[in-house]
Amino acid sequence: MARRKIIAGNWKMNMTPSEAVALCDTLKDLVKNDEVDVVYCVPAIDIVPVAQAVKGSNVHVGAENFYIEDKGAYTGEISAPMLKDAGVEFVIIGHSERREYFKEDDCFLNKKVKKAFEAGITPILCCGESLEQREMDVTMDWIRLQIKSDLAGVTADQVKSMVIAYEPIWAIGTGKTATSDQAQEVCKGIRDLIAEMYDADTAEAVRIQYGGSMNAGNAAELLSKPDIDGGLIGGASLKPDFGKIVNYNK
Ligand code: PEP
Repeated sequence: MARRKIIAGNWKMNMTPSEAVALCDTLKDLVKNDEVDVVYCVPAIDIVPVAQAVKGSNVHVGAENFYIEDKGAYTGEISAPMLKDAGVEFVIIGHSERREYFKEDDCFLNKKVKKAFEAGITPILCCGESLEQREMDVTMDWIRLQIKSDLAGVTADQVKSMVIAYEPIWAIGTGKTATSDQAQEVCKGIRDLIAEMYDADTAEAVRIQYGGSMNAGNAAELLSKPDIDGGLIGGASLKPDFGKIVNYNK
């Protein structure tokens, strides 16, 4: 069965609640595409107003982060059950910005993946190499390490339902996109790894996105590749151009 494409915006630390509602309004008609799953991963404070603003549309609400405990004395944190109750269906885990600035390591990320599933939220698990690692030709070795650690103890059925985002760090927010062949090569490598860790059915089912300066101009080519099942989009998800990415096939 063909995998359904999934186009997710990562708003990062942008959009006040009122700006968020205005953006949903601007994008409303532009992101209609029955053949594609559309997700807005938004800052925690925007989740409730965005869930309200996209109600009845084809847009799913995603979060950008949560803490691994369900409740308790963790001042300032938000739990996965809280996200779920607010209407969140997807959550980004392992984004390179959280790995780098907030020192989230693979052991912690593995706990987050399991906690997201426990709460009934679909993880969008990010992985990707630095420019230095690409130049040293260790891209796939590095990504294999990340995915094996992040998915330790995660079942085949869970993997079938999740999303993995290949995001070369050198392409995030830089305007430098991986070529479609480079992106396809790594996305295929990830699918082969999932087949090795689980089985062919699981590898066939898991959706793998590319992320890194995807925009209206390069989306169609990237998304034409057989192992690229969607995109995780930062900068361009905050503009009307996001609608063109979602409608890359029109
Ligand atoms: C991202 O942050 O996940 C991302 C891909 O950002 P950008 O599209 O801006 O490169």
